[in-house]
Amino acid sequence: MQRVEQDPQDFGQVLSSMCTEPHPAARDAAERFLATNPGDPGTYETVAKLERRAVDLLGEIVGLPDVAGYVASGGTEANIQAVRIARNRFETDTRNPNVVAPQHAHFSFWKAADVLGVELRTAPLSNYTANLEAIKQQVDEDTIAVVGVAGSTEYGRVDDIPALADIAADVGALCHVDAAWGGFVLPFTSHDWNFASADVDTMTIDPHKMGQAAVPAGGLLARGPEFLDELAIDTPYLESTSQVTLTGTRSGAGVASAVAAMETLWPDGYREQYYESQANAEWLAKKLRTRGCEVVPPVLPIVAADMPDRLIDTLRDRGWRLSRTGTDEARVVMMPHVDRSMLREFVSDIDDIFAEFDIGR
Ligand SMILES: *Cc1c(COP(=O)(O)O)cnc(C)c1O
Repeated sequence: MQRVEQDPQDFGQVLSSMCTEPHPAARDAAERFLATNPGDPGTYETVAKLERRAVDLLGEIVGLPDVAGYVASGGTEANIQAVRIARNRFETDTRNPNVVAPQHAHFSFWKAADVLGVELRTAPLSNYTANLEAIKQQVDEDTIAVVGVAGSTEYGRVDDIPALADIAADVGALCHVDAAWGGFVLPFTSHDWNFASADVDTMTIDPHKMGQAAVPAGGLLARGPEFLDELAIDTPYLESTSQVTLTGTRSGAGVASAVAAMETLWPDGYREQYYESQANAEWLAKKLRTRGCEVVPPVLPIVAADMPDRLIDTLRDRGWRLSRTGTDEARVVMMPHVDRSMLREFVSDIDDIFAEFDIGR
């Protein structure tokens, strides 16, 4: 029988991913804690303490010292759980709960709506961010949560979180912020996105993306423990008595690597990485513009650019991992492994292909 390649792919040509090479300290911690289970904190006490440390560090990053939360399997679980908190909190108030989100909300909210039996209402954007008037039109007395995106998956844009929190408060709904990708770059910008700048109730922030932890390490945070209580399920045969996570058994690798990455990189290492990634985004945007491609201005380190189909296909044939937005722009996520020399090779390949095919610039 033919054996499947034993080594993982490297990141040398990966421009499409929101994950990256874990920081060496994070990789090491992940390996050491691989066989622990924070899903059973009564038995695995060391990793349970580490998880509390992870949440405290995340709290510092999001401007909420007394934060509640846990290390989830990723942004998807955190978003599902945030919707579940809202649904359970208002269980007696409404039979037809709805969640209102701007159209660029991550597809995990559709999973949440489907799993939880909640209606998801999306509102159109203006200039790549939530259109507040459109959001206002969608909310009503059955709205349980208003979602704001802090670092959209396709364009890295940031919604007006304080305004969305106000809209949520007006109808008595929770405000959930999805900073799965943006959470580790936004602290170094002037955006109002966190618990300190708005009445945010819950937040998603993923150490396994810009946080440079090993997969799987997501984060669900809440303004107080009473929000997590909405998720508590009794656990009769464990040493601990209840569980708030969606998963049961889960690897301690994510927890330990998240702590190691944050202890090593917060705040200076993340700040340096943000400046480097943002400079790379602006550099690439300029190079693409001078080659005739229309570029969506990178507010955070993600570049989306209109490129001829044949160019994108040929770049992919040459090994570049490049994704496309819903409107077909090529999308480059400036993760830590995407450095200037890699981008120079990428641009040089673009020039080669333009020369070879003489395709429209
Ligand atoms: C990546 C992402 C998610 C989903 O996170 P996973 O870790 O892939 O489950 C959710 N929201 C946003 C904004 C994201 O960028």
